[in-house]
Amino acid sequence: MKRRNFIRSGALSVAALTIAPHSQARERNIPILVCSRGEEWAAKVLQPGWQTWLNKKNMLDAVEAAANVVELDPEDASVGYGGLPNEEGVVELDASVMAGPLHRCGAVAGLRNIKRACSVARLVMERTNHIMLVGDGARRFALAHGFKEEDLLTDKARETWLRWKENLNKDDFWGAPEAQPTGTINVLGVDDRGDVYGITTTSGLAFKIPGRIGDSPIIGAGLYLDNDIGAAGATGRGEEVIRTCGSYLVVEKMKQGLSPQQACEFGCRRILEVNDGKVNFNVKFIAVNKNGEVGSAQLQDRKKSECSFIMHGGLRSIFPAVVK
Ligand code: ASP
Repeated sequence: MKRRNFIRSGALSVAALTIAPHSQARERNIPILVCSRGEEWAAKVLQPGWQTWLNKKNMLDAVEAAANVVELDPEDASVGYGGLPNEEGVVELDASVMAGPLHRCGAVAGLRNIKRACSVARLVMERTNHIMLVGDGARRFALAHGFKEEDLLTDKARETWLRWKENLNKDDFWGAPEAQPTGTINVLGVDDRGDVYGITTTSGLAFKIPGRIGDSPIIGAGLYLDNDIGAAGATGRGEEVIRTCGSYLVVEKMKQGLSPQQACEFGCRRILEVNDGKVNFNVKFIAVNKNGEVGSAQLQDRKKSECSFIMHGGLRSIFPAVVK
């Protein structure tokens, strides 16, 4: 299989972040907050997260604050409020959260009418002995914890959905065509002690079949972390990430000694392998290890698919390596 990798980096290259293991805490690149969005979103998402870290010194709160920004933004068509709906015009949200200490997890899937899905996932993690709630159970759980029931379909998303319906052809493949906008956000954080946290949140593939659940709420697929190693998250075609246990694979590869960058590329190569080298979709992985070393790789050379991080108060972005 041919493989062509390249990295276009922003202010700092991935290589420049490589640091010696066992270095002292002050020499490591932590605390660090990483997200799967580039320039356009980085400051908007990461700055409030970083401010939360500075104010509260709680990295789970920081990761959640960053993810909530996108979840509440009506202009983002792929996450939370304003996200594109399923084929029946209903917005269904998926989200997961992991906390390194004690290896805790929580998730919600197919959640309707509730904003801030990742915060509901966090409540599942902190207030129950379950890991995942779906559909109406997740909605009722959120209501019981004081969340408001709200319509998540904005006029803009409704118009996009109507245009999609008007252009439907009986020969179309039942599912979200690749041309339809999709997206997700992964936010990963390592605190000053080296404890690792992560969130993945999305409205899933646009115009999906009602009830379709992607990789984002599935621990090991759209999100995984190991507090001794680091964290990884995935965006893109969730079905492919689920069938390769994508984020778990990336973290396990870091455990075996690969850098976050190498591990993300390994995750992409596994997806290529199971597809006989032919893909007409994108998947992107981001990863960070306990020392604050960051990596990212994707299958297609997508514009605007940088990821960013904030460290020592400075914002940087990297362009994911393209693995072919
Ligand atoms: N991974 C998400 C899903 O499959 C969608 C995306 O990231 O574009 O639901």
